[in-house]
Amino acid sequence: MVLATAFAPSRVVHVVPDVSQLSPAECTVDAVAGTVEQLRQAAVRGITVSRGVVVFTYEDGACLRDEERDYLWERFGVPVFEQYLSRTNELLASECDAHDGLHLTAGAGARAGFTIDEGRCPCGDPRPRYIQLSEPDEAAEAERWYPVPAAL
Ligand SMILES: [Zn+2]
Repeated sequence: MVLATAFAPSRVVHVVPDVSQLSPAECTVDAVAGTVEQLRQAAVRGITVSRGVVVFTYEDGACLRDEERDYLWERFGVPVFEQYLSRTNELLASECDAHDGLHLTAGAGARAGFTIDEGRCPCGDPRPRYIQLSEPDEAAEAERWYPVPAAL
């Protein structure tokens, strides 16, 4: 199940722009993919996932934060993988089972805020990996993820 509307549906890909429209029978899937916010909505909706969660992050946007990954992994009970996309939904890099950086796809160029690690990944995939260098503004990111309640 893909929660982003820019993706084309297929025999195996079910595109769901609004999880609130799903019937209970549609709430159990092998895998779910979307932005952190879309996946948080899927978690609140009670979507059950048996194999994996894919988080879309976008160039010039925030990367997946550890607390976001932990929340999604704990809530869905399956591994969480990040996929780094261009603004036109082209896959630039993707996370492997080793969760140690994002493997670059062929043709993906250097991006601001990342360094390229040419070292061997524990998963055995020879493609170089992006390792995030620059940390986003921690306070702003924390507030985005955990809204601060207004003072009473
Ligand atoms: Zn790897």
